[in-house]
Amino acid sequence: MSCIFCDIITGKAPAQIVYQDNDAVAFYDINPKAKVHILIVPRKHIASVNNVESGDQTVLGSLFLAARNIAETQGIAEKGYRLMVNTGSNAGQIVYHLHMHLLGGGVFDD
Ligand code: 5GP
Ligand code: ZN
Repeated sequence: MSCIFCDIITGKAPAQIVYQDNDAVAFYDINPKAKVHILIVPRKHIASVNNVESGDQTVLGSLFLAARNIAETQGIAEKGYRLMVNTGSNAGQIVYHLHMHLLGGGVFDD
């Protein structure tokens, strides 16, 4: 099964990468819903929160640490930002590679 976010992580598909570490990669969303709209994804392919396993704890924690770092770098840490993880069709999940939306600097449609 092909996965667009796995392709971005491995460099097979283009994206504007803003952050990476051993567990996580972050890049700008192609359809931004805020002045700053970044997707933070685990390097490990986890389809959604429904597929999270106990061994994923470190990786999942790394997403929050990445969010903190990126918010700081983007200059939105102090004023605030939203972290969002859509799970399943009723939540509007489109890409089935777990990702955390980081939205800040003014959300467009709320
Ligand atoms: P979801 O609704 O699954 O939580 O959000 C998926 C997000 O991924 C959407 O905001 C969408 O704009 C973004 N997205 C989908 N395909 C691509 C892509 O190929 N590159 C980038 N940078 N973002 C994507
Ligand atoms: Zn994937």
